[in-house]
Amino acid sequence: MASLRFHALKESISYKSKTFVEAGRRSELFGTNVFNESTMRQYLTRDAFRGVMSAIEDGSKINRSVADQVASSMKDWALSKGVTHYTHWFQPLTGTTAEKHDAFFETTENGNAIEKFGGSQLVQQEPDASSFPSGGIRNTFEARGYTAWDPTSPAFIYETTLCIPTIFVAYTGEALDYKTPLLRALHAVDDAATDVCRYFDKNVKKVTSSMGWEQEYFLVDKNLVACRPDVTLTGRTLLGHSSAKGQQLDDHYFGSIPNRALNFMRDLENQCMLLGIPAKTRHNEVAPNQFEIAPIYEEANLSVDHNSLLMDVMGRVASRHNLKVLLHEKPFANMNGSGKHNNWSLSTDTGVNLLKPGKTPMSNLQFLTFFVNTIKAVYENEELLRATVASASNDHRLGANEAPPAIMSIFIGEQLTKVLHDLEGVTKGKLSPQEKTDLKLNVVGKIPDVLLDNTDRNRTSPFAFTGNKFEFRAVGSMANCGNPMTVLNTIVAKQLKDFKVEVDALVDGKNFKKDEAIFNILREYIKSSRDILFEGNGYGEEWEKEAKKRGLSNNKTTPEALKAKIAKSTVALFEDMKVMSKIEVEARYEIEMEAYIKHIQIESRVLGDVARNHIVPTAVKYQNILIDNVKGLKEIFGKDYEDLAKEQLKLIRAISGHVEGINGKVTKMIGERKQANALADVAKKAEAYCEKVKPFLDDIRYHCDKLELLVDDELWPLTKYREMLFIR
Ligand code: ADP
Ligand code: MG
Repeated sequence: MASLRFHALKESISYKSKTFVEAGRRSELFGTNVFNESTMRQYLTRDAFRGVMSAIEDGSKINRSVADQVASSMKDWALSKGVTHYTHWFQPLTGTTAEKHDAFFETTENGNAIEKFGGSQLVQQEPDASSFPSGGIRNTFEARGYTAWDPTSPAFIYETTLCIPTIFVAYTGEALDYKTPLLRALHAVDDAATDVCRYFDKNVKKVTSSMGWEQEYFLVDKNLVACRPDVTLTGRTLLGHSSAKGQQLDDHYFGSIPNRALNFMRDLENQCMLLGIPAKTRHNEVAPNQFEIAPIYEEANLSVDHNSLLMDVMGRVASRHNLKVLLHEKPFANMNGSGKHNNWSLSTDTGVNLLKPGKTPMSNLQFLTFFVNTIKAVYENEELLRATVASASNDHRLGANEAPPAIMSIFIGEQLTKVLHDLEGVTKGKLSPQEKTDLKLNVVGKIPDVLLDNTDRNRTSPFAFTGNKFEFRAVGSMANCGNPMTVLNTIVAKQLKDFKVEVDALVDGKNFKKDEAIFNILREYIKSSRDILFEGNGYGEEWEKEAKKRGLSNNKTTPEALKAKIAKSTVALFEDMKVMSKIEVEARYEIEMEAYIKHIQIESRVLGDVARNHIVPTAVKYQNILIDNVKGLKEIFGKDYEDLAKEQLKLIRAISGHVEGINGKVTKMIGERKQANALADVAKKAEAYCEKVKPFLDDIRYHCDKLELLVDDELWPLTKYREMLFIR
């Protein structure tokens, strides 16, 4: 094994990075492989074009003849670009993307062949998808799953395959993917927000949820990963002693991008351009070999698709540069982990960003309405929101003193804190003309359209207002954004719906003027959700204590956090907003708990194997060398050897101690795993894995890492931290 490590090191040191040459101007390349509006204009008949556009804009159904026309044009376009296959492209609850390629090629009766693609293949497919997680939905109903075209996310070509974004549902209608509930949530927030907007502007017909993600990742030489079974199988290092130099000097963050990484980024961004992913920003992150890519924001459904697609494309592009992308939230201990900030906002079809302060008192009242309602929504659903970012891998970040804590709170900055404070003082009931004028001039009117303290300074907040959007920072780097985006949009939709009911009750029932009613309701919201606002250091212990006093949840592990997903209130929320049924909610809970169990189970098996079959034999081999040395010294020096071999003897004992530690703990861990596996209840099993099995991972690692420092480097089989983090 050690020879494999040295071979890998040699390969990676001698690797010559290929300079990636961009094929042209990005603005010209952008969207070339996307069946977007301009391509559709070119390829579709007028009828077909209108049909698709109205499906995109107002969700109307596409009839059979339009579908046939669209399919035929898509095929012509794809063939003109050398495409041979098509696939429905979807996001099952495994968290990755799924595809099954079919050739356009068909044989004809006379023994010839043609390229064929009809409306029925475009609109619906029945992948043999019985192996995707369904949380029991399909077992219960003995129904199969099918995929159905989502015209709001345009088809695209990746290499030689035409990919058609689809939803994935059971025949009985239940969602089996991330996209279906997201689309329902986006619909719900559109309805609710449009209604509220119409208090301010009767012309608003549609509100769109926008999202811009920031994706963090690590790049490690492929050869170096290949001799790490832990990284290969689990995406993270389950053992490995810290490098003497890590990120202490802060010399990587925003530093000049290493050559090979830059070539990878150029290549990746080139793919992004072709695929219509509007990649905009790239930079080094805090940890060595950690980087970030961020696009320009887009409509939320499209943005979620683009992030899922990106994660897939990243892996393939990296391979061309002899690199491996690690999207795991914590690939290296004692090193910054990776997250994925989800920047979120709402905007109208009249071009107004509802979370951007305006220039007039009226537009600022609209801003405040959406701002305060979002705060209230997060306050009321903080535990559910926390649950949407729960996973075995993200547990290493949340609450681990380096990323946002497992406690949800909102940072809004000094200026807006003051505005909310002033609004709390609004008189109850009807307002005097003097107070109204005063409010408009001195409170609402004074919200600057550029927030100068730009509110973004507090990087420890999991949910921060950053001037014209909220930034949900607790999302895991590996996560499918569909999950948090579904919940965020649903809770805001529900909140806006309730808000409208309350305002209408004052206007219709109590003869309040509209703005009076809004001020009154907002005042109550600010008072009741004050506890979610926190401007201090979210990583500190003080905050944990304070949050507890405020009654905020602090669910540090996934099994604990996920319970909020099946709370009665959650089921009621999703049913009320028509986003998910009880069955769908419960199925997801089950799937996520199962995923948690499996992840810990795999990590535990891998570590058991590596510790026993790689580390222990290596340690024993080195110990034997030491023993030979001691024997030799004894032979030469007689009884003086004891003094001369003092250190060797200590080492021999130390090694034995760690070997014993490893073997004993691996045996115990296997025992705990057996007991956990025997539990039938998924929650109990997940808890057992969390509380009984998982602690062994750190315990066993401790001995392995100690041995790494004792054993001759020449014998050590696994690539070391310093090699994975600093070879570029
Ligand atoms: P940072 O958070 O690193 O300081 P920025 O604040 O400039 O960076 O932007 C981060 C992300 O926010 C980008 O992906 C950007 O597209 C996104 N973003 C900007 N405006 C909006 C918006 N109105 N809705 C959603 N996302 C947005
Ligand atoms: Mg950010």
